[in-house]
Amino acid sequence: MNAPLKFDSPVEHIRTFHRELTDVRRDIHAHPELGFNEQRTSDLVAAKLQSWGIEVHRGIAKTGLVGVIKGHKSTSGRAIGLRADMDCLPMHENGNPPYKSLHPGCMHACGHDGHTTMLLGAGRYLAETRNFDGTAYLIFQPAEEGGGGGRVMVEEGLFDRFPADEIYALHNWPLLPPGKMGVRPGPITAATDEIQIGVRGKGGHGALPHLAVDPVVISAHIITALQTIASRNVSPVDSVVVSVCSMETSQLGAFNVIPDAVRLIGTVRTFRPETRVLAEQRVREIVTNVAAAFGGTAEIDYRRGYPATVNTEREALFAAKVGEKIFGKDNVQTDGEPTMGGEDFSYMLQARPGAYAWLGQGGGPLGCFLHNPGYDFNDDVIPLGAGYLAALVEESLPIK
Ligand SMILES: [Zn+2]
Ligand SMILES: [Zn+2]
Repeated sequence: MNAPLKFDSPVEHIRTFHRELTDVRRDIHAHPELGFNEQRTSDLVAAKLQSWGIEVHRGIAKTGLVGVIKGHKSTSGRAIGLRADMDCLPMHENGNPPYKSLHPGCMHACGHDGHTTMLLGAGRYLAETRNFDGTAYLIFQPAEEGGGGGRVMVEEGLFDRFPADEIYALHNWPLLPPGKMGVRPGPITAATDEIQIGVRGKGGHGALPHLAVDPVVISAHIITALQTIASRNVSPVDSVVVSVCSMETSQLGAFNVIPDAVRLIGTVRTFRPETRVLAEQRVREIVTNVAAAFGGTAEIDYRRGYPATVNTEREALFAAKVGEKIFGKDNVQTDGEPTMGGEDFSYMLQARPGAYAWLGQGGGPLGCFLHNPGYDFNDDVIPLGAGYLAALVEESLPIK
Protein backbone atom coordinates (compact mmCIF):
# COMPACT_ATOMS: atom_id res chain seq x y z
CA MET A 1 0.00 0.00 0.00
CA ASN A 2 1.26 3.51 -0.80
CA ALA A 3 2.22 5.72 2.12
CA PRO A 4 -0.55 8.24 2.87
CA LEU A 5 -0.04 11.69 1.36
CA LYS A 6 0.52 14.30 4.06
CA PHE A 7 -0.55 17.94 3.98
CA ASP A 8 -0.32 20.58 6.66
CA SER A 9 -3.99 21.26 6.14
CA PRO A 10 -6.56 19.81 3.75
CA VAL A 11 -7.37 23.42 2.78
CA GLU A 12 -3.95 23.81 1.20
CA HIS A 13 -4.49 20.76 -1.00
CA ILE A 14 -8.10 21.60 -1.86
CA ARG A 15 -7.00 25.07 -3.03
CA THR A 16 -5.15 23.32 -5.88
CA PHE A 17 -8.56 22.45 -7.39
CA HIS A 18 -10.50 25.49 -6.13
CA ARG A 19 -11.10 26.70 -9.70
CA GLU A 20 -12.66 23.41 -10.73
CA LEU A 21 -14.88 23.36 -7.63
CA THR A 22 -15.97 26.93 -8.35
CA ASP A 23 -17.01 25.86 -11.85
CA VAL A 24 -19.03 22.99 -10.36
CA ARG A 25 -20.72 25.34 -7.87
CA ARG A 26 -21.66 27.79 -10.62
CA ASP A 27 -22.92 24.99 -12.85
CA ILE A 28 -25.21 23.75 -10.06
CA HIS A 29 -26.27 27.36 -9.39
CA ALA A 30 -27.30 27.77 -13.04
CA HIS A 31 -29.34 24.53 -12.91
CA PRO A 32 -31.27 24.66 -9.61
CA GLU A 33 -33.71 21.85 -8.86
CA LEU A 34 -36.53 21.63 -6.31
CA GLY A 35 -36.81 19.03 -3.56
CA PHE A 36 -36.84 15.37 -4.73
CA ASN A 37 -36.29 16.53 -8.31
CA GLU A 38 -32.52 17.07 -8.06
CA GLN A 39 -31.91 14.61 -10.91
CA ARG A 40 -29.30 16.58 -12.81
CA THR A 41 -27.52 17.56 -9.59
CA SER A 42 -27.57 13.96 -8.38
CA ASP A 43 -26.17 12.75 -11.74
CA LEU A 44 -23.45 15.40 -11.59
CA VAL A 45 -22.49 14.46 -8.00
CA ALA A 46 -22.42 10.73 -8.84
CA ALA A 47 -20.26 11.31 -11.95
CA LYS A 48 -17.76 13.46 -10.03
CA LEU A 49 -17.49 10.98 -7.14
CA GLN A 50 -17.01 8.05 -9.53
CA SER A 51 -14.37 9.96 -11.49
CA TRP A 52 -12.37 10.17 -8.23
CA GLY A 53 -12.75 6.43 -7.59
CA ILE A 54 -15.43 6.80 -4.92
CA GLU A 55 -18.07 4.07 -4.56
CA VAL A 56 -21.55 5.55 -5.09
CA HIS A 57 -24.96 4.33 -3.87
CA ARG A 58 -27.94 6.06 -5.44
CA GLY A 59 -31.73 6.17 -5.08
CA ILE A 60 -32.04 6.83 -1.34
CA ALA A 61 -34.96 9.23 -0.86
CA LYS A 62 -35.31 9.31 -4.65
CA THR A 63 -32.44 11.59 -5.72
CA GLY A 64 -30.31 11.19 -2.57
CA LEU A 65 -26.96 9.43 -2.80
CA VAL A 66 -24.07 8.31 -0.62
CA GLY A 67 -20.38 8.10 -1.51
CA VAL A 68 -18.24 5.65 0.47
CA ILE A 69 -14.50 6.23 1.01
CA LYS A 70 -12.32 3.79 2.90
CA GLY A 71 -9.22 5.09 4.65
CA HIS A 72 -5.73 3.66 4.17
CA LYS A 73 -6.47 1.63 7.27
CA SER A 74 -9.73 0.17 8.51
CA THR A 75 -8.74 -1.23 11.87
CA SER A 76 -10.75 1.30 13.88
CA GLY A 77 -14.05 -0.17 12.72
CA ARG A 78 -15.44 3.36 12.90
CA ALA A 79 -17.24 5.54 10.37
CA ILE A 80 -18.11 9.20 10.06
CA GLY A 81 -20.91 10.77 8.01
CA LEU A 82 -20.74 14.17 6.28
CA ARG A 83 -23.93 15.58 4.86
CA ALA A 84 -24.81 18.24 2.26
CA ASP A 85 -28.20 19.30 0.88
CA MET A 86 -28.79 19.65 -2.89
CA ASP A 87 -32.17 21.35 -3.41
CA CYS A 88 -33.07 24.92 -4.35
CA LEU A 89 -35.96 27.23 -3.46
CA PRO A 90 -39.10 28.00 -5.51
CA MET A 91 -38.24 31.66 -6.19
CA HIS A 92 -36.91 33.93 -8.92
CA GLU A 93 -33.31 35.09 -8.92
CA ASN A 94 -32.93 38.85 -9.33
CA GLY A 95 -29.14 39.06 -9.16
CA ASN A 96 -27.33 38.86 -12.45
CA PRO A 97 -24.27 36.60 -12.21
CA PRO A 98 -23.05 35.01 -15.47
CA TYR A 99 -24.26 31.71 -14.04
CA LYS A 100 -27.75 33.01 -13.17
CA SER A 101 -30.49 30.37 -12.80
CA LEU A 102 -31.62 28.94 -16.14
CA HIS A 103 -34.74 27.47 -14.50
CA PRO A 104 -37.40 30.18 -14.05
CA GLY A 105 -38.94 30.11 -10.58
CA CYS A 106 -36.07 28.06 -9.15
CA MET A 107 -33.06 29.48 -7.36
CA HIS A 108 -30.20 28.42 -5.12
CA ALA A 109 -30.90 31.18 -2.60
CA CYS A 110 -29.84 29.13 0.42
CA GLY A 111 -26.39 28.15 -0.83
CA HIS A 112 -27.05 24.42 -1.12
CA ASP A 113 -25.11 24.63 -4.42
CA GLY A 114 -22.12 25.60 -2.25
CA HIS A 115 -22.80 22.88 0.34
CA THR A 116 -22.93 20.19 -2.36
CA THR A 117 -19.72 21.53 -3.92
CA MET A 118 -17.83 21.65 -0.61
CA LEU A 119 -18.76 18.06 0.18
CA LEU A 120 -17.55 17.10 -3.31
CA GLY A 121 -14.28 18.91 -2.58
CA ALA A 122 -13.89 17.06 0.72
CA GLY A 123 -14.64 13.79 -1.11
CA ARG A 124 -12.01 14.39 -3.75
CA TYR A 125 -9.42 15.26 -1.12
CA LEU A 126 -10.26 12.22 1.04
CA ALA A 127 -10.21 9.89 -1.97
CA GLU A 128 -6.81 11.22 -3.05
CA THR A 129 -5.23 11.09 0.42
CA ARG A 130 -7.14 8.43 2.43
CA ASN A 131 -5.20 9.55 5.46
CA PHE A 132 -7.61 8.04 8.00
CA ASP A 133 -8.47 4.77 9.68
CA GLY A 134 -12.08 3.81 9.00
CA THR A 135 -14.83 4.83 6.59
CA ALA A 136 -16.20 8.19 5.45
CA TYR A 137 -19.77 8.41 4.16
CA LEU A 138 -20.59 11.43 1.98
CA ILE A 139 -24.34 11.94 2.24
CA PHE A 140 -26.01 14.11 -0.44
CA GLN A 141 -29.62 14.65 0.53
CA PRO A 142 -32.60 16.00 -1.41
CA ALA A 143 -35.37 18.32 -0.28
CA GLU A 144 -34.11 20.23 2.74
CA GLU A 145 -36.35 23.23 2.03
CA GLY A 146 -39.59 21.81 3.39
CA GLY A 147 -39.68 18.30 1.91
CA GLY A 148 -37.84 16.61 4.76
CA GLY A 149 -35.37 14.74 2.54
CA GLY A 150 -33.18 14.14 5.58
CA ARG A 151 -36.07 12.40 7.36
CA VAL A 152 -36.85 10.28 4.30
CA MET A 153 -33.21 9.17 4.01
CA VAL A 154 -33.19 8.11 7.67
CA GLU A 155 -36.53 6.31 7.22
CA GLU A 156 -35.19 4.51 4.15
CA GLY A 157 -32.41 3.02 6.25
CA LEU A 158 -29.55 5.47 5.69
CA PHE A 159 -27.77 4.55 8.91
CA ASP A 160 -28.52 0.82 8.63
CA ARG A 161 -26.79 0.74 5.26
CA PHE A 162 -24.13 3.33 6.13
CA PRO A 163 -23.61 3.03 9.88
CA ALA A 164 -21.92 6.31 10.74
CA ASP A 165 -20.86 6.66 14.38
CA GLU A 166 -20.99 10.46 14.13
CA ILE A 167 -22.46 12.87 11.64
CA TYR A 168 -21.63 16.46 10.64
CA ALA A 169 -22.99 19.18 8.38
CA LEU A 170 -22.29 22.81 7.52
CA HIS A 171 -24.55 25.67 6.52
CA ASN A 172 -23.16 28.87 5.08
CA TRP A 173 -24.02 31.88 7.24
CA PRO A 174 -23.97 35.40 5.78
CA LEU A 175 -23.97 36.97 9.26
CA LEU A 176 -20.48 35.55 9.90
CA PRO A 177 -17.57 36.95 7.86
CA PRO A 178 -15.60 34.62 5.58
CA GLY A 179 -12.83 32.85 7.49
CA LYS A 180 -14.99 32.30 10.58
CA MET A 181 -17.03 29.38 11.77
CA GLY A 182 -19.69 28.92 14.45
CA VAL A 183 -20.79 25.80 16.30
CA ARG A 184 -22.35 25.26 19.71
CA PRO A 185 -23.48 22.36 21.86
CA GLY A 186 -27.27 22.08 22.24
CA PRO A 187 -29.96 23.56 20.00
CA ILE A 188 -28.77 25.46 16.91
CA THR A 189 -32.00 25.65 14.87
CA ALA A 190 -35.62 25.45 16.02
CA ALA A 191 -38.57 23.11 15.59
CA THR A 192 -40.75 24.50 12.80
CA ASP A 193 -44.50 23.91 13.10
CA GLU A 194 -47.20 25.22 10.75
CA ILE A 195 -50.60 26.43 11.84
CA GLN A 196 -53.67 26.95 9.72
CA ILE A 197 -56.71 28.37 11.47
CA GLY A 198 -60.22 28.66 10.05
CA VAL A 199 -62.40 31.14 11.96
CA ARG A 200 -66.11 31.02 11.27
CA GLY A 201 -68.73 33.64 12.18
CA LYS A 202 -71.87 34.87 10.46
CA GLY A 203 -71.63 37.23 7.52
CA GLY A 204 -73.64 40.41 7.25
CA HIS A 205 -73.80 44.11 6.46
CA GLY A 206 -70.87 46.17 7.68
CA ALA A 207 -73.31 48.78 9.00
CA LEU A 208 -75.34 46.27 11.02
CA PRO A 209 -72.71 44.29 12.95
CA HIS A 210 -75.17 43.36 15.69
CA LEU A 211 -76.86 41.02 13.20
CA ALA A 212 -73.57 39.30 12.30
CA VAL A 213 -70.79 37.41 14.09
CA ASP A 214 -67.66 39.11 12.81
CA PRO A 215 -64.79 36.65 12.21
CA VAL A 216 -62.40 39.55 11.49
CA VAL A 217 -62.77 40.88 15.04
CA ILE A 218 -62.47 37.32 16.40
CA SER A 219 -59.29 36.82 14.35
CA ALA A 220 -57.82 40.07 15.62
CA HIS A 221 -58.33 38.85 19.20
CA ILE A 222 -56.86 35.44 18.36
CA ILE A 223 -53.76 37.02 16.78
CA THR A 224 -53.21 39.21 19.83
CA ALA A 225 -53.93 36.44 22.33
CA LEU A 226 -51.47 34.08 20.61
CA GLN A 227 -48.69 36.47 21.62
CA THR A 228 -49.36 35.64 25.28
CA ILE A 229 -47.82 32.19 24.65
CA ALA A 230 -44.42 33.88 24.48
CA SER A 231 -45.12 36.52 27.10
CA ARG A 232 -47.18 34.59 29.66
CA ASN A 233 -46.89 30.81 29.15
CA VAL A 234 -43.30 30.02 28.23
CA SER A 235 -40.52 30.84 30.68
CA PRO A 236 -38.85 34.18 29.89
CA VAL A 237 -35.47 32.43 29.67
CA ASP A 238 -36.76 29.85 27.16
CA SER A 239 -37.59 30.68 23.52
CA VAL A 240 -40.74 30.52 21.44
CA VAL A 241 -41.97 32.39 18.37
CA VAL A 242 -45.61 32.43 17.29
CA SER A 243 -46.11 34.36 14.05
CA VAL A 244 -49.38 34.74 12.18
CA CYS A 245 -48.08 35.51 8.71
CA SER A 246 -51.19 35.54 6.55
CA MET A 247 -54.83 36.55 7.03
CA GLU A 248 -57.48 36.16 4.36
CA THR A 249 -61.21 36.78 4.63
CA SER A 250 -63.88 34.96 2.64
CA GLN A 251 -64.98 38.29 1.11
CA LEU A 252 -62.21 40.37 -0.36
CA GLY A 253 -62.50 44.00 -1.30
CA ALA A 254 -65.94 45.08 -0.15
CA PHE A 255 -65.91 47.99 2.32
CA ASN A 256 -69.36 47.16 3.72
CA VAL A 257 -69.48 43.36 3.97
CA ILE A 258 -68.70 41.40 7.12
CA PRO A 259 -67.37 38.06 5.83
CA ASP A 260 -68.44 34.77 7.31
CA ALA A 261 -64.96 33.25 7.52
CA VAL A 262 -61.28 34.12 7.95
CA ARG A 263 -58.21 31.97 7.33
CA LEU A 264 -54.99 32.54 9.28
CA ILE A 265 -51.66 30.91 8.49
CA GLY A 266 -48.58 31.04 10.64
CA THR A 267 -45.63 29.31 12.24
CA VAL A 268 -44.58 28.23 15.73
CA ARG A 269 -40.85 27.88 16.56
CA THR A 270 -39.38 26.28 19.68
CA PHE A 271 -36.17 24.59 20.83
CA ARG A 272 -37.23 22.31 23.68
CA PRO A 273 -39.66 19.40 23.11
CA GLU A 274 -41.63 20.31 26.28
CA THR A 275 -42.03 23.88 25.02
CA ARG A 276 -43.20 22.58 21.67
CA VAL A 277 -45.94 20.54 23.38
CA LEU A 278 -46.94 23.49 25.57
CA ALA A 279 -47.06 25.89 22.60
CA GLU A 280 -49.28 23.54 20.58
CA GLN A 281 -51.64 23.05 23.51
CA ARG A 282 -51.94 26.81 24.13
CA VAL A 283 -52.48 27.57 20.42
CA ARG A 284 -55.36 25.10 20.38
CA GLU A 285 -56.91 26.42 23.62
CA ILE A 286 -56.60 30.08 22.65
CA VAL A 287 -57.98 29.66 19.14
CA THR A 288 -60.96 27.53 20.18
CA ASN A 289 -61.89 29.49 23.28
CA VAL A 290 -61.41 33.01 21.91
CA ALA A 291 -63.64 32.13 18.96
CA ALA A 292 -66.27 30.69 21.31
CA ALA A 293 -66.12 33.76 23.55
CA PHE A 294 -67.22 35.94 20.62
CA GLY A 295 -69.91 33.55 19.40
CA GLY A 296 -67.95 32.00 16.54
CA THR A 297 -66.12 28.76 15.97
CA ALA A 298 -62.60 27.89 14.89
CA GLU A 299 -60.81 24.90 13.46
CA ILE A 300 -57.11 24.44 13.73
CA ASP A 301 -54.76 22.34 11.65
CA TYR A 302 -51.49 22.15 13.60
CA ARG A 303 -48.72 20.45 11.62
CA ARG A 304 -45.44 19.50 13.15
CA GLY A 305 -42.53 20.24 10.86
CA TYR A 306 -38.82 19.65 11.45
CA PRO A 307 -37.70 19.06 15.02
CA ALA A 308 -35.06 21.33 16.57
CA THR A 309 -31.49 20.66 15.43
CA VAL A 310 -29.62 19.76 18.60
CA ASN A 311 -25.86 19.26 18.58
CA THR A 312 -24.50 16.67 20.99
CA GLU A 313 -21.95 18.16 23.36
CA ARG A 314 -18.95 15.94 22.66
CA GLU A 315 -19.28 16.23 18.88
CA ALA A 316 -19.92 20.00 18.97
CA LEU A 317 -16.77 20.53 21.03
CA PHE A 318 -14.84 18.23 18.69
CA ALA A 319 -16.13 20.19 15.66
CA ALA A 320 -14.97 23.42 17.31
CA LYS A 321 -11.53 21.93 17.94
CA VAL A 322 -11.23 20.80 14.30
CA GLY A 323 -12.53 24.22 13.24
CA GLU A 324 -9.73 25.92 15.18
CA LYS A 325 -7.17 23.95 13.16
CA ILE A 326 -8.73 25.00 9.88
CA PHE A 327 -9.95 28.54 10.59
CA GLY A 328 -7.51 29.55 13.34
CA LYS A 329 -7.98 29.65 17.09
CA ASP A 330 -9.78 32.99 17.27
CA ASN A 331 -12.06 32.33 14.32
CA VAL A 332 -14.41 29.72 15.81
CA GLN A 333 -17.43 31.06 17.68
CA THR A 334 -18.89 28.67 20.22
CA ASP A 335 -21.14 31.13 22.02
CA GLY A 336 -23.21 32.32 19.06
CA GLU A 337 -26.98 32.41 19.40
CA PRO A 338 -29.03 29.63 17.84
CA THR A 339 -31.53 30.67 15.17
CA MET A 340 -35.30 30.10 15.11
CA GLY A 341 -34.96 28.96 11.48
CA GLY A 342 -35.36 25.26 10.71
CA GLU A 343 -33.17 22.51 9.29
CA ASP A 344 -33.90 18.86 8.54
CA PHE A 345 -30.41 17.67 9.45
CA SER A 346 -32.25 17.50 12.80
CA TYR A 347 -33.61 14.06 11.82
CA MET A 348 -30.09 12.74 11.27
CA LEU A 349 -29.02 14.20 14.62
CA GLN A 350 -31.92 12.39 16.28
CA ALA A 351 -30.46 9.14 14.91
CA ARG A 352 -26.73 9.76 15.45
CA PRO A 353 -24.54 12.06 17.59
CA GLY A 354 -23.02 14.94 15.68
CA ALA A 355 -22.84 18.66 15.05
CA TYR A 356 -24.18 21.23 12.63
CA ALA A 357 -21.99 24.30 12.14
CA TRP A 358 -22.21 27.74 10.53
CA LEU A 359 -19.64 28.61 7.88
CA GLY A 360 -18.79 32.30 7.59
CA GLN A 361 -19.81 33.52 4.18
CA GLY A 362 -20.21 37.28 4.46
CA GLY A 363 -23.01 39.28 2.93
CA GLY A 364 -21.79 39.01 -0.65
CA PRO A 365 -21.69 41.89 -3.08
CA LEU A 366 -25.41 42.59 -2.64
CA GLY A 367 -25.39 42.24 1.16
CA CYS A 368 -28.04 39.53 1.09
CA PHE A 369 -29.13 37.06 3.70
CA LEU A 370 -30.28 33.50 2.85
CA HIS A 371 -33.53 33.24 0.80
CA ASN A 372 -33.05 36.75 -0.62
CA PRO A 373 -33.52 36.87 -4.43
CA GLY A 374 -30.13 38.57 -4.77
CA TYR A 375 -28.23 35.99 -2.69
CA ASP A 376 -25.22 34.15 -4.14
CA PHE A 377 -22.90 31.66 -2.42
CA ASN A 378 -19.40 33.04 -1.78
CA ASP A 379 -17.00 30.81 -3.75
CA ASP A 380 -14.01 32.07 -1.74
CA VAL A 381 -15.00 29.91 1.23
CA ILE A 382 -15.18 26.60 -0.70
CA PRO A 383 -11.69 25.37 0.33
CA LEU A 384 -12.31 26.31 3.98
CA GLY A 385 -15.66 24.48 4.18
CA ALA A 386 -14.39 21.47 2.23
CA GLY A 387 -11.17 21.42 4.26
CA TYR A 388 -13.12 21.50 7.53
CA LEU A 389 -15.30 18.56 6.45
CA ALA A 390 -12.25 16.55 5.39
CA ALA A 391 -10.41 17.41 8.62
CA LEU A 392 -13.35 16.09 10.68
CA VAL A 393 -12.68 12.68 9.11
CA GLU A 394 -8.91 12.79 9.58
CA GLU A 395 -9.15 14.01 13.17
CA SER A 396 -11.94 11.65 14.17
CA LEU A 397 -10.35 8.60 12.54
CA PRO A 398 -6.60 9.20 12.94
CA ILE A 399 -4.09 6.66 11.67
CA LYS A 400 -2.17 5.55 14.75
ZN1 LIG B 1 -32.99 27.63 3.24
ZN1 LIG C 1 -30.33 25.99 3.64
